[in-house]
Formats: sequence, structure tokens, C-alpha cells
Amino acid sequence: MRAARVHGPNDTRIDDIPEPHLRPKSVKVKVAFGGLCGSDLGIYTGGSPSPGEHPMLGQSGPHVLGHEFSGYVVEVAEGVGGVRIGDLVVVRPNIACGECASCLRGELHLCTRWAAIGIHGGGGGFSEYVVVSSDQVHVVPLGVTAEVAALVEPLSVAWHAVRTSGASSTSSAFVIGAGPVGLGVVMALKAIGVSRVIVSEPSRLRRELARAIGADAIDPAAADPIEHVRSATGDEGVDLAFESSGASDVTFTAALTSLRPGGTAVLVGLFHHQVSLDAAALLFTEKRIVGSFGYWDDDFREVIDAIASGSIDPNPLISCVIPLRDLVNRGILSLLGSGRESQIKILVSP
Ligand SMILES: [Zn+2]
Ligand SMILES: [Zn+2]
Repeated sequence: MRAARVHGPNDTRIDDIPEPHLRPKSVKVKVAFGGLCGSDLGIYTGGSPSPGEHPMLGQSGPHVLGHEFSGYVVEVAEGVGGVRIGDLVVVRPNIACGECASCLRGELHLCTRWAAIGIHGGGGGFSEYVVVSSDQVHVVPLGVTAEVAALVEPLSVAWHAVRTSGASSTSSAFVIGAGPVGLGVVMALKAIGVSRVIVSEPSRLRRELARAIGADAIDPAAADPIEHVRSATGDEGVDLAFESSGASDVTFTAALTSLRPGGTAVLVGLFHHQVSLDAAALLFTEKRIVGSFGYWDDDFREVIDAIASGSIDPNPLISCVIPLRDLVNRGILSLLGSGRESQIKILVSP
């Protein structure tokens, strides 16, 4: 079968590899669509984060790329219930050890030995077939398309961030960065009834999408986002800020200064460098900074329910569908270059 494998920095190839075999307690999925994610771009340029064998997956590289994917079940191991051949499923790619202190506390998404399919081994979404443990598949109800099902994973990142923030329908929120996760945060906030959402985003296309979902979107190059937040909140500041860009000291600081006293900033965009913090200002205002990492099954289930009930419509996030053979040229290299202006989520079809 064809699969995109990471051989090293800037060296991801479409290889011909053997189809994976069904294991006990697993299902075999024929991939329908895989979403291209910012972390795939980082893996492409930097190489696999664990090029050898990850202890949780026991498989040596080069690893298949792609952790956001939907597909159809083609084989089910004996004794596995709740999923049948032909079902459309979305795969939760992260795996927990079940034994570390985080796992024993029930915080499986914070497992200290965590691994993810499509990142650390175990196959991936940019291939024709994947075999995954049956407890990682979520059956998607009829009426939800395979394209939309591929967006459940990134939307679960956003859903988990909104859960972590403690948002309620009366909250006010400021979202920095309207990429797939930032737009997902806006969708999740809207789904729980939050009416006051301000977005700061330099790309015109992304601002337009944020407005279409019901946010007040501003261009940080044209207006000072903090002044805008202040004037929109009677000089008070917002209850919640979501840093979903991971861009710079400026965006990190903006997340904190946009808050009212006692407000909460959620970090959901991945920073690749250190940022500086005015610790005294944090102390005097009792603002909180919390990280939000990944998701677990409850996030997947609630996102699937929100899509099925119509309270979230992820379709506007899909920019285009490309074939697997074009993954690098029309997908990864496009998003690393000028494509960021014109694309939100690129789906890859094997
Ligand atoms: Zn991702
Ligand atoms: Zn663990």
C-alpha cells in the first residue's frame, strides 16, 4: 500500500509498504481522509520526534505521518464489540500507558509515556490502511460525512481547550489566531452558547471565516487588539483568552493583558520558544494561565455529538482535498509557504 513516511528532516516520501495485519482487540481501517496539521509541518521540517522505536508502539521507523483521519472499517478482531465492518470511524490517535501516575489519576491525555499514531509510529492517516486498537475508534453517526469526520481530531483539541477554560454561556472570550484550532475554539464556544467572542488574526480569509462563525474578528496589523477588547468590554477585559497561535511574546502577552482581573488564559497554540512573563502583574490581578494539551474520548464524543446535532458545522474549515501523491508539494510545502493565506485545512485522500 502507499504511505507517506518520514525519513528525516525535509524528507517525507510516498513509499510502497506492506498492509498492516489485524491484531487481537484491533480493527483495520481503510483511510478515507487525513487532515494536514501544523504539527505535521513541524515533523516534516524537523524529522520524526522518535525516529526509532517508541516504547508504547514498539515499531521502528521510518514512521507513517498523519494523526487526523477518518475511514471505513474493513476488518474487526474476534470478540470486539461496538464497531462493525463498513462503519465510518474517526480514530483517536493518542495512546496512554495506563500505569503512570497521570493515568492512575484518570488523566490519560497527560500520560507521561504518551505516544500518538501518525507521529511516533503505529501507522498513520496518510496511508491506505491503518490497524488500531478498538478502543481508539469512534463510530460516526449516519449523516456525518467522511470529510467532516476527519476534522473531529483537531476540533477535539479546541473542545478540550474550551473545557479546560471553564467557559460558560455568559463568558466573554478573546481568541488569538484563527487557524484550524482557533476557529475550532470559536466553534466550541458558540456551541455552548458564548455570544461575546473577539478574534485577532492577520489573515483576511481566516478573519472572514471567524466572522462567519459569529465572532468579532480584527486585524492586529490594523488595530490594537487590546484596545479593541477593552472598548468591547467596558474597559474591563475578557473572562477568557485562548492563545491559539503560539506565535510570539506579543501574542502571549496579549492573551494576559486582554483578561479582566481573575480571568484565565488558555495556551493551546504550540510555542516553539520561551516567552517572557510579567509575574508581578499576574500576582496583583490573580490572572491564571493554563495549558491545554490534546484530548481524550469524552472530547471526541462531545465533538461528534455537536457535529451530528448541527451545533458545529466544520465544513467551512475544509479548503481542498488533494491525493496522497501530492502530499508534500500541494500540501506540506504549500502550507509552509504562501498557502497559509489561502488554506485552512487540507484533506488528503489516499
Ligand atoms: Zn494535529
Ligand atoms: Zn500513563
